Amino acid sequence: MRRTKIICTVGPASNSWETIKGMYEAGMNVLRINMSHSGHEDAERAIRWVGTLNRNSPYTVPILLDTSGPEIRTGQLEMPMKLRRGDDAWISSSANGAAETASPCIEVNYPDFNDHVMVGDTIRLDNGLINLRVESCEQDALMCRVVDGGVLESHKHVNLPGVHVKLPSITSKDVDDIRFGVENAISYVAQSFVRTADDIREMREVIGERHRWVKIIAKIENQEGVDNIEEIANEAHGVMVARGDLGIETDMAELPFLQRTIVEKTIRAGRRCIVATHMLESMVEHPIPTRAEVHDVANAVEQEVDAILLSAETSIGAYPVRAVEYVRRVAEAQEQLPGLRFARSQSSDSHRQQLAWSAVELAERISATGIIVITRSGWTADILTNCAPPTVPIFAFSNESHTRRRLALNRGVYAYRIDFSSNPEKTIQRCIKSLLRREKLPEGSPMVVVSDAVGLGGKASIQIRQLQMPVPSQNAL
Ligand code: PGA
Ligand code: MN
Repeated sequence: MRRTKIICTVGPASNSWETIKGMYEAGMNVLRINMSHSGHEDAERAIRWVGTLNRNSPYTVPILLDTSGPEIRTGQLEMPMKLRRGDDAWISSSANGAAETASPCIEVNYPDFNDHVMVGDTIRLDNGLINLRVESCEQDALMCRVVDGGVLESHKHVNLPGVHVKLPSITSKDVDDIRFGVENAISYVAQSFVRTADDIREMREVIGERHRWVKIIAKIENQEGVDNIEEIANEAHGVMVARGDLGIETDMAELPFLQRTIVEKTIRAGRRCIVATHMLESMVEHPIPTRAEVHDVANAVEQEVDAILLSAETSIGAYPVRAVEYVRRVAEAQEQLPGLRFARSQSSDSHRQQLAWSAVELAERISATGIIVITRSGWTADILTNCAPPTVPIFAFSNESHTRRRLALNRGVYAYRIDFSSNPEKTIQRCIKSLLRREKLPEGSPMVVVSDAVGLGGKASIQIRQLQMPVPSQNAL
């Protein structure tokens, strides 16, 4: 069974029943809604398709809602603006900045822009395609030299590498989108431009106690996020290597180094890890990926991340289903080889963590067909995921639907919902029955059963069981 999970961004190219079902059949595990590009109406439609899908398929697909965050964009232009290398260009946070300048002025939606950007700074427009260098600061505008020219259109991304941007980490639009999301049973919020652990704590407040099962994924998109990766990973449920912005905000040549550093530290912290952006970018237009792209996917698989995220490939691309198929097939091939085995978390909750390590070692030693974990909150399934069994899959059983749903992100975890019985033996039998009914696993093969204190009658335990129906009651070892 494939261990690396696949996250697909929904968009105009895929917000239909046929394509969402097609992507699921091709290997999609999680659906991402990018609120930078989606209104609530489109989001609602995607959520409805996923609801239908989940009622009719063996594995549920959770929703990851990706916030816009404090993004800076250029303003509305009446006509595209031609910027030639060597030209002067004015840029300002206010429309009347333009009044003071002879040439047309680029407007940005960051009120303190003129105060926080200094002479010598680089301003990157439209995802780094157009680059300006600040030459002088006037009262209401900055005079820049065009370093890389191009044609600027309305509402393009602005990146300010190395500038400490003083914008609120969660905007009122984000709050609005999150409220919409939690009311629609999302499992994850991906928080954009996370810079410190405080940003995560603030997000937890916004999500609120009532929706505490909604987990936060911290998107690392700039140098400040990289610098604080340890405290951020500790505070968040997971981390996303957001290579789109990260590649513009830092030195692109260092991106592989940064990815590896972030992945290593996230794994060490015992958190979920996602690699995102431009995984199979050429498939936006072409039916096959480039050789470099399949290597890039394989590289993330080798780093043993939880999931790979597709953006434009599935949201606006011409081949959304084929892109998912490629990620799946590359993952399946690469998983035949051992991964890089970065140092794993040593959680402070040492008893349960030790139990998890022992269970994984035992399962590998007896070549178990799987590890069954009985867990209410999903925590025991998380710490088993952190042990990364090299070959044995993890089958998680929870009596909570939201736990079952969110575990679809975890590397190597397949999750199911069952009702827990007050009789622990009955609960185990329900798991085994459900596995035999739903997975084509060899009857009679050995399984390791792990249960947390809540899941199974107040005692944490590890057992070896035979995958058999009906299960004799005394064969626990
Ligand atoms: P975005 O984030 O797609 O919301 O910009 C991902 C990234 O920057 O890589
Ligand atoms: Mn981004």
